[in-house]
Amino acid sequence: MPEALSPAELRSLDRAHVWHPYGPMPGRQDPLVVESASGVRLRLAEPAHGRTELVDGMSSWWSAVHGYNHPVLNEAARGQLDRMSHVMFGGLTHEPAVRLATRLVEITPEPLRHVFLADSGSVSVEVAVKMCLQFWRSAGRPAKQRLLTWRGGYHGDTWQPMSVCDPEGGMHELWSGVLPRQVFADEPPAGFDAEPDAAYVRHLRELIAEHADRLAAVIVEPVAQGAGGMRFHSPAYLRVLREACDEHDVLLVFDEIATGFGRTGQLFAAGHAGISPDVMCVGKALTGGYLTMAATLCTSRVAEGISRGEVPVLAHGPTFMGNPLAAAVACASIDLLLGQDWEREVARIGAGLWEGLAPASELPGVRDVRVLGAIGVVQLDHEVDMAAATRAAVREGVWLRPFRDLVYTMPPYVTDDEDVARICRAVCAAAREG
Ligand SMILES: *Cc1c(COP(=O)(O)O)cnc(C)c1O
Repeated sequence: MPEALSPAELRSLDRAHVWHPYGPMPGRQDPLVVESASGVRLRLAEPAHGRTELVDGMSSWWSAVHGYNHPVLNEAARGQLDRMSHVMFGGLTHEPAVRLATRLVEITPEPLRHVFLADSGSVSVEVAVKMCLQFWRSAGRPAKQRLLTWRGGYHGDTWQPMSVCDPEGGMHELWSGVLPRQVFADEPPAGFDAEPDAAYVRHLRELIAEHADRLAAVIVEPVAQGAGGMRFHSPAYLRVLREACDEHDVLLVFDEIATGFGRTGQLFAAGHAGISPDVMCVGKALTGGYLTMAATLCTSRVAEGISRGEVPVLAHGPTFMGNPLAAAVACASIDLLLGQDWEREVARIGAGLWEGLAPASELPGVRDVRVLGAIGVVQLDHEVDMAAATRAAVREGVWLRPFRDLVYTMPPYVTDDEDVARICRAVCAAAREG
């Protein structure tokens, strides 16, 4: 083992060489050095604002739903490591991938039958888009190659996903002239429980009808839009999309990378609407936050359509496709989730978030407080001061990562009531000071 680096050495080398998400090089603020993590707590290598342990209010960006260092997931990884951590997927297969794909088909909405295992969420969206475009090409309708989405979305950082992210004020505005030009509907009216807005329903239907000849697919995040703005909408709009897509020969893609595996209170957010997409992406919580893996599922109609075409293959195959280590942990994570009363845990956390975040609505500068499933959001009327907000949360002993005008949390499902209350105090403090 090489000699351990001191926190100061780590920080200095990090600053010199390491690029962090959505940041300049070198970064504007030194990141905190995490030494280990267990349960819902991150252990820091040195104290920050008097804290050496932080409750993770972010689940490492929606992924660590069972918390860290979980004995069952550790055991699954260790067991697989002793057999093989990786083997190529071309011409070979193995039990972890077969089990995982079968399990995903079982637990996702009914007509989804085939699974493409990808190595990250963005890649699974690229694959979804490729499937849809190729489906229509194979059907002799090559003009159908555009996508329709609604504003306020986020689908990842590679090229096709960027083209369907919110085009204004979002992370990818810089590329608006370079990206493929897609069709954007207005943002869905806010509110999970709100009555569907008739004018908006008409707007969706008309836009799909108008562009149908060129549209390969509609792609949206069902019920909860994540990194595009943390907004919730009525499941009724998803049924409208399903109907309009069927009527006009357009495929429907649900990006459930953030919403999947229980986060919104249904195992998949499509369940709120009681419908199924033609193609669906999952990722993030798929491996319980242990390893990078995502999946694109599709119906037999889509798969058969592609395989009947002039080029009857899906030309995609990441080097680490179907990675056995990630697949084994994903199987264990899904079993762990479904083996407990996860609905009750998500509802319990949601109730704690409502209670703990309610006081935030009285704070000056707060525009809205909202909760869905185990997601809590405080929206400000100004851009958050990231440094001040982070400091305020760390002082409360909590890790948060606000962005734009949003201070938000999606705690691991194993967070107990006391820690949920602590997270809420931190969100309120961050909203006050940020
Ligand atoms: C995070 C996310 C992605 C991208 O996933 P990566 O694994 O970061 O590439 C795509 N869509 C949604 C809805 C996401 O939340």
